[in-house]
Amino acid sequence: MTLHDLTFEELEERLTGAGLPRFRADQIFRWTYAQLAEQYDEMTVLPKELRARLPELLPLTKLEPVRAVETDDGQTRKLLFRTFDGEHLETVLMLYADRTTVCVSCQVGCAVGCAFCATGMMGLTRNLTTGEMVSQVIEAAREARALGRTLTNIVMMGMGEPFQNYDAVLKMVRILHDPRGLNFGARRTTLSTSGLVPFIDRLAGEPFQVKLAVSLHAPNDALRDTLVPLNRRYPVGDLIDACRRYVRTTGRRITFEYALIKGVNDSDEIATELAALLKGFLCHVNVIPLNPTPAAPFERPSPERIERFAEVIRLHGIPATVRYSRGVDIAAACGQLRTEHEQTLSEQRT
Ligand code: SAH
Ligand code: SF4
Repeated sequence: MTLHDLTFEELEERLTGAGLPRFRADQIFRWTYAQLAEQYDEMTVLPKELRARLPELLPLTKLEPVRAVETDDGQTRKLLFRTFDGEHLETVLMLYADRTTVCVSCQVGCAVGCAFCATGMMGLTRNLTTGEMVSQVIEAAREARALGRTLTNIVMMGMGEPFQNYDAVLKMVRILHDPRGLNFGARRTTLSTSGLVPFIDRLAGEPFQVKLAVSLHAPNDALRDTLVPLNRRYPVGDLIDACRRYVRTTGRRITFEYALIKGVNDSDEIATELAALLKGFLCHVNVIPLNPTPAAPFERPSPERIERFAEVIRLHGIPATVRYSRGVDIAAACGQLRTEHEQTLSEQRT
């Protein structure tokens, strides 16, 4: 258990349990999340003896930076970390004109196994802890600060399926949202799911106003079964019903992500079918041109086909935009994250 695993209340409890005054929690939380201190030693507001004692009582960090790679003229940075048990994970920082976004991983690998996704090919090694997710955000916030930026958005679109690690992810939101610390607006946090229906309902009942993105990729079961294996358990009809309930309960718009794959899900007919499925919905479609991965036989459609697909959806009255992923050339794009470092190591070993 590290400091980054604790909510403010849990931190208070820990400290008072160790015989320390309650107000120390305010100080430590503020210095950790608002000041982004790297060491207790930087927290000059604390007495020296306490600073010396804290690393043992409550270790601060558990992610060791291994490598950082940048691309898009330095506007996209992939950070590779090693966990305490030797796993590797990736975080991506993206600088835009009007925002600074971090793409956070929630698992090492992923059990869902979507047909076109590099992470899915790895299978699941383990869930990340809340502390490991919070640490990714802190590291990205520090990197952003060094570049004269402030982090404005968090997207759970790195490695893993957030709803298969639901409690730890929601706890991360709670910690980062706390006004005594980072004070990160929940509305600027997006959870992206491949469609675990029960958790869509659960999220609708949470007090946090996070944004929800649903990775749809196909408007019918025959096609979606082949792309997202989870569809056999939660078919399109059930998924869309859950999304409608979510919009009704929360009044918040849903984003549907749609990885566009040449000759698979990119025809005008399918765009029309998709638009019909989403009719009367408070939603937005994000068309993501596929980032081909070596292990899968899929290709990206032509730029004309991509534009046309989005246009057909729009013609039917559904807002749609095309989003080209950042960092494709350093395998830092959506669904590209997989620990190449680990791969390289194991290739060296064999
Ligand atoms: N597991 C979650 C979040 C991580 S993936 C989910 O599936 O929603 C983030 C987004 O990238 C998802 O919409 C996913 O389907 C998409 N994606 C995965 N692999 C991709 C690829 N090769 N090209 C384009 N998008 C991809
Ligand atoms: Fe997992 Fe998302 Fe990749 Fe599917 S797209 S395998 S759910 S990370």
